[in-house]
Amino acid sequence: MNNHIKNNLEKVNSNIKKYAEKAGRSAKDISLLAVSKTYSSEIILDAYKCGQRKFGENKIQELESKVPVLPDDIEWHLIGHLQSNKVAKAVELAEYIHSVDSVKLVNRINRIAGEKGKNPKILIEINVSGEENKFGASEDETDKILEASLKCENIKVVGLMTMAPFNIDENIKKLVFSSLRKLRDSLEKKYNVKLHELSMGMTSDYEAAVQEGSTIVRIGTAIFGKRSYD
Ligand SMILES: *Cc1c(COP(=O)(O)O)cnc(C)c1O
Repeated sequence: MNNHIKNNLEKVNSNIKKYAEKAGRSAKDISLLAVSKTYSSEIILDAYKCGQRKFGENKIQELESKVPVLPDDIEWHLIGHLQSNKVAKAVELAEYIHSVDSVKLVNRINRIAGEKGKNPKILIEINVSGEENKFGASEDETDKILEASLKCENIKVVGLMTMAPFNIDENIKKLVFSSLRKLRDSLEKKYNVKLHELSMGMTSDYEAAVQEGSTIVRIGTAIFGKRSYD
């Protein structure tokens, strides 16, 4: 057993609890997604043995090599940008896709999911801060993507995802996260749907994200250590 990972998982889980309580929330409403990108299946299995069941990867290639050799009851999430020629693999391998950012992608996922008899859960990725080099839909595009998703019978849209820019002031991060929450609230009203999940918060900013309503924190470094490459 890898004590290092065990201790890190305990620490992250206790931080989530602490941050949740500080914000008057229950830690039960927040899922820890262990982001295992670049780490081996052996290391993922160590985290699994500590009770962790939700894992996130950002590349299809890594899902392809890891999913078949790891336990069946792992819930896999694709969190990285999805190219249209990789949709079939994504639908086969991941239960959740966090990075849906166009109508085209929604329709393609739906069609392929139908062909494969799958029902993936999707989150719409929003580029809240409007940074140019980032993936994610603008707030303006979100309505169209949600409308398309709601028409699809093979996918279930469960919420929104965002990445806050690195190296920005804590208050601006909070603003990014609270904007995502407000956008979610207004979409729920406008379309009379439930969009329960807010996938936001990483190692460097999950305290702010939990304070602002995150339901899925995506944590890599704080669990597995610093990545040697990405
Ligand atoms: C790598 C990654 C994370 C985790 O980042 P850490 O800083 O290591 O916690 C979260 N979300 C996405 C989309 C990622 O690519």
